[in-house]
Amino acid sequence: MERDARPILDALEKYDNFIIAGHQEPDGDCLCSQMALASFLKRKGKSAKLVSAGPFNRPEIRSWEKFFSSTIRNDDLQGSTLGIITDCSSPDRTGPLGEQLERLPLMVIDHHSAGEDFGDYRFIDSNSPSTTLLVQQLIEASGMELTEEEAEFIFLGFCTDTGFFRHIGSGKPDVFQAVSRLVEAGVSPNATHRVMTGGRTHGSRRLLGRILERSRLHFDGKLIISWETLEDRRELGTDDRDSDSMYQMLQSIGGVESVAVIQEEDLDLFSVGLRSNFDTDVGAIAKSFGGGGHRKAAGCTLKGSKDEVLDRIIKAFQILNNS
Ligand code: 5GP
Ligand code: MN
Ligand code: MN
Repeated sequence: MERDARPILDALEKYDNFIIAGHQEPDGDCLCSQMALASFLKRKGKSAKLVSAGPFNRPEIRSWEKFFSSTIRNDDLQGSTLGIITDCSSPDRTGPLGEQLERLPLMVIDHHSAGEDFGDYRFIDSNSPSTTLLVQQLIEASGMELTEEEAEFIFLGFCTDTGFFRHIGSGKPDVFQAVSRLVEAGVSPNATHRVMTGGRTHGSRRLLGRILERSRLHFDGKLIISWETLEDRRELGTDDRDSDSMYQMLQSIGGVESVAVIQEEDLDLFSVGLRSNFDTDVGAIAKSFGGGGHRKAAGCTLKGSKDEVLDRIIKAFQILNNS
C-alpha cells in the first residue's frame, strides 16, 4: 500500500498540464476516476486532457467517448506535463497509448492487487473497492469540497466496480463513510443504479440468454463456464458489454464458486472474464495467462479456437483445485 496523499498533492501542484489515461476496454471505474480528476485539476486552474484507447462498449459509459481522445499528439508531450494513469496495474494496459505515456513523468492511482511497480508518484491501495474512492481521498485531502458532478463520477465508478455494493465484505465501515459524504455532496443512489442497469438493447438481452443457455458446469458444479462469439454479436446486432448482469446471473447459482466467460474479440482471439464467489483466487489464474485483476474479478486474453480456449481455462481451474 502506497497511500500518503500529501506527496501526491504536492506533485500535482508542480505541473500545469496533465494527460490522464486509464486502461483499454475502459469501465466505469477507470473513466470516472479520469473524469473526476480532470474536473479537480481544472478547478485548480490546470489543463487536463483525457485519453483512452477505448472501445466504449459498456452501456453505462457508451456516450462518453466524445470526452476522450484516442491519441496523444507530440505537442501534448511538451512543457511541464504529468501523465496520470488510473485503474491500471501495468503501463501496457493503457493499450497503444502506453509507449507515449512512458515518455512523461508518471503518476499511478490504482487499486489492483498485483501489479508492476511503475510510475514516479504512486497512490495505490489494493484494499480500496474502486480507484474512484482513491480520487475522492485525494480531493478531500486537498481541502477542497467535492463538486456534485465529481461525487457522481466517484459514486458511479464505485458502483460499477462493486456491483452496486454486492462485492463489499464485512469490516469496511470507512467505505460507507466515504459513500455517505458522496450522498451529502448530492449523489442519488437510485439514479446511479438506473445508469448502471437501464437502457439496455433487446439484442444484448438475447445475447445474455445465449450465454446462460450455453453455460456448462464442471467440478461438481463449482465452476460454470460459457462463451460468446463475434457471430453472435453480428447476428443480434449488439456490441454491448454488460458483464455485471451476466456475472450476477451466473454467480447466483447454488454451489457455483467460480465463473468464466470467454468472448471472441477477433477471429480466434478471446477475452476471458473470471469471477469468484468465495476463496478461489481467479486473479492468480488470469495472471498465469498474462492477464490480471483482483482475487474475485480478473481477466486475460487468449488465442485459439473457442474449444481450445475453454479447455485451457478448465485445465487451469483443475490445476488450482488440485494444488
Ligand atoms: P472485467 O472482467 O470486468 O473486464 O475485468 C475484471 C478485472 O480484471 C478488472 O480489474 C480488470 O482490470 C482486470 N482485467 C480484465 N482483463 C484483463 C487483462 O487482459 N489484463 C489485465 N492485466 N487485467 C485484466
Ligand atoms: Mn477497471
Ligand atoms: Mn477498478
